[in-house]
Amino acid sequence: MASLRFKAVEKVLNRNIVKVSAPSTKVSDYFNSNVFNDAAMKNFLDKEAYEAVCSAIKHGEKIDRKVANQVASGMKSWAMSRGVTHYTHWFQPLTGSTAEKHDAFFEPTEDGRSIEKFAGSALVQQEPDASSFPNGGLRNTFEARGYTAWDPSSPAFIMESENGKTLCIPTIFVSYTGEALDYKAPLLKALHAVESAVVDVCSTYFDKSVTKAMASLGIEQEYFLVDEAFYQARPDLMLTGRTLLGHAPEKGQQLEDHYFGTVPPRVLSFMMDFEVESYKLGIPLKTRHNEVAPGQFECAPNFEEVNLAIDHNQLLMDVMERVAKRHGFEVLLHEKPFAGVNGSGKHNNWSLITNTGVNLLAPGKTPHTNLQFLTFFINTIKAVHTHADLLRASIASASNDHRLGANEAPPAIMSVFIGTQLTNVLEELVSNKAKAAVKASSKTSIDIQKIPEILLDNTDRNRTSPFAFTGNKFEFRAVGSSANCANAMIVLNTIMAQQLKTFKAEVDALIKKGKKKEDAILEILKGYYKSSKTILFEGNGYSDEWVKEAKKRGLNNVKTTPEALNAYISKESKKLFADNNIFDVRELEARYEIMQENYVKKIDIEAKILAQLATSHVIPAAVDYQSKLANCVAGLKNAGVPKASYGAQLEMIQTISKHISTINEYAQKLVAETNKAHHIEDTHKRAVAFCHKVKPLFDIIRTASDALEFMIEDDLWKLPKYRELLFVK
Ligand code: ADP
Ligand code: MG
Repeated sequence: MASLRFKAVEKVLNRNIVKVSAPSTKVSDYFNSNVFNDAAMKNFLDKEAYEAVCSAIKHGEKIDRKVANQVASGMKSWAMSRGVTHYTHWFQPLTGSTAEKHDAFFEPTEDGRSIEKFAGSALVQQEPDASSFPNGGLRNTFEARGYTAWDPSSPAFIMESENGKTLCIPTIFVSYTGEALDYKAPLLKALHAVESAVVDVCSTYFDKSVTKAMASLGIEQEYFLVDEAFYQARPDLMLTGRTLLGHAPEKGQQLEDHYFGTVPPRVLSFMMDFEVESYKLGIPLKTRHNEVAPGQFECAPNFEEVNLAIDHNQLLMDVMERVAKRHGFEVLLHEKPFAGVNGSGKHNNWSLITNTGVNLLAPGKTPHTNLQFLTFFINTIKAVHTHADLLRASIASASNDHRLGANEAPPAIMSVFIGTQLTNVLEELVSNKAKAAVKASSKTSIDIQKIPEILLDNTDRNRTSPFAFTGNKFEFRAVGSSANCANAMIVLNTIMAQQLKTFKAEVDALIKKGKKKEDAILEILKGYYKSSKTILFEGNGYSDEWVKEAKKRGLNNVKTTPEALNAYISKESKKLFADNNIFDVRELEARYEIMQENYVKKIDIEAKILAQLATSHVIPAAVDYQSKLANCVAGLKNAGVPKASYGAQLEMIQTISKHISTINEYAQKLVAETNKAHHIEDTHKRAVAFCHKVKPLFDIIRTASDALEFMIEDDLWKLPKYRELLFVK
């Protein structure tokens, strides 16, 4: 019987390209067609309801029950006009994926007929059976109930599947007593905190007409595609998202012929298809291309307000996974599906933009606007410097551990790249002191002269930095490809809010003492630059020299998740989150528990699958081949052939035995160590044991298995090989 592997190869070779049908040739004809956006609201809501939703979006105002009923009724009419039968609150629990529970609009009436109903109460709030979502012990101490509550700032949308349509209402998810159980609730708080701080600084020092601001985010999503048939023949990929075994392919990315190369036709068809679905949902995808590794691709949307950008990225991942199946593909969002091959990230391009349309991280045209730019630019550097460990924690996960510091991925050391030009500008700024003092005595435009002119050359790039300035935004590159970006964005926006508040207080204190506004700002900024300079690094972040240099500078290099997460519950972090009203201590500790537990679960599953594959696949395949060799040797011996002519076979038999016994021994150790680790009560210590006692055994088994894969007869190896997974499309 042909193995699954060979059947898969045959299947893949016979695949056809799936034809994609877009509703129209022009994207603008159907962009947002599945979204209850402004145009749809105007059409389906009366004036009162429309205005209530708008002011809820703009000013966070509450919507009363009567208006909620009107909104719900309009939303229902819109949805039903598009063939929707069900609705759901759509939320982001700490499992990492999105959650939904569908209810039908349909309701039977007493007279045996039925009507379609959707009340305001169902729009605003629901009570999902929450006991099976991660809560870190929060709900045991309070109430078992959890609530989802409507987030009007992210528009409702229609999810289309092959056989029906569902109205999805973005919501937050909180416990009965108000503790956040999801990503969105604290994210909204962090965004509120950063907005207040930005508006305060801008309107006080730079422009009175700034009354609102937003953090912007453009998320570049990297992913791998493998054929579904191969995927199904690899239990490790199916259950852990990555290959636990597999000899490196003969050809990898060394020829550098994949990046920006021609997209394979079958892949292009998939891309076009998920783009169509995304456009209907209002996801503004702009870019598609091949990535560095074979089988790796990327897409990126236009940037949006952070909350919406994250909802859209969560949706995008769903859409991609769903559409891939139509094309016989599986999308791998894991950070490191293949050892020795590039990993995947999710670059977070982030900036701050005012209601007057100014990007605060874009260098201005005049000295005055440049002072404003430098204010936000230097405060960001200062924030990252002060809270580097927390930022590192925000991207920590079992899967991202494989990527940070590995092949072509930013290191676990947090540093900021700003380019030579801006480095010069900042150096000029601090060395300028004497000159500035002289100029200050002349009457005209004194303070203004002190700001160096900034003209940016956009080509100044460094791909190895985890946090890089790219002309008019910072790019947080260390975020993992499978992550919900909320963790990174909660931390980044919170530390920025805190930093701006501190800055404001310090500048105000100087002004109070009689300093001129510009002088006060400059003085504080210079101090910040000097004290946070150690975080700036322009060199190759992938090099060993940087690891040594960073150590000298006192920058941390926290390599593993269980340790990195500790930064969440440090005294400083607790204060930071409490002061900015993001998490109280209980919420923070619960979240910490959940993240440590998630780590344990991930490694535990990997350990189980690896032990299983090693004993039920690798060893039997090796034994098969060894018997074949043994038969051969016996035959030759019988025939009276001199020993020298079957010496190679004998050697191979021994090598196989050696690998088999290694695998056998370590597969047993793996089971034993896993069991031992499970008995550790403390969650953090348990996670550490999984990290340092269980996980290292993977490598030993893998090395032996990969050696066997390399030497045994191709037909006997049943798991699809790297070259097939990566190249056969
Ligand atoms: P590159 O990474 O090569 O600079 P782009 O300039 O196209 O590529 O930007 C990548 C991402 O950055 C896109 O998603 C884009 O929308 C986003 N981006 C651009 N400007 C901003 C901004 N001001 N704030 C947030 N994201 C931005
Ligand atoms: Mg980029």
